[in-house]
Amino acid sequence: MTDPIPRAGLSPRFWEKKPLTKLSPQEWEALCDGCGKCCLNKLEDEETEEVALTRVACRLLDDATCRCTHYENRHQFVPDCIVLKPDNLDTHAYWMPQTCAYRLLWQGKPLPEWHPLMTGTPDSVHAAGVSVRGNTVSEFDTPFEEWEDYIIEEPT
Ligand code: SF4
Ligand code: SF4
Repeated sequence: MTDPIPRAGLSPRFWEKKPLTKLSPQEWEALCDGCGKCCLNKLEDEETEEVALTRVACRLLDDATCRCTHYENRHQFVPDCIVLKPDNLDTHAYWMPQTCAYRLLWQGKPLPEWHPLMTGTPDSVHAAGVSVRGNTVSEFDTPFEEWEDYIIEEPT
């Protein structure tokens, strides 16, 4: 499978050699494992800030590729979709999926062995069963009152 994220030509294990704030734009993008889990709707307890991911996907997520169908102009449809950057990771890391590479590195943890940067193939995130491929329901078909029924255990 062609990697939808350009990872060719990057320095081996660049993420272990410099801080997140020093990564080039391509290196930053290459950290994404393509799992699609950040595109799932979440339920947050306002008091404890505890976050639960649900299988109810954002309207723009393609559940087969685990990619956003309108990434470049997604804010026309989903205005509050965040643009994750090194300087806002502190704000967002708490709700990111537990297997998310950005969150793991922010926590000082290594990348998992199934990460495409480790395996050299974008398929490994799906083969490891970590991605949302084929595992979501539509937010159009799922009323908010039912989202609790779709909470997923992490990490998966
Ligand atoms: S959860 Fe993290 S690694 Fe997975 S798709 Fe989202 S940004 Fe990429
Ligand atoms: S708009 Fe696209 S990138 Fe943002 S949450 Fe939805 S599917 Fe994901």
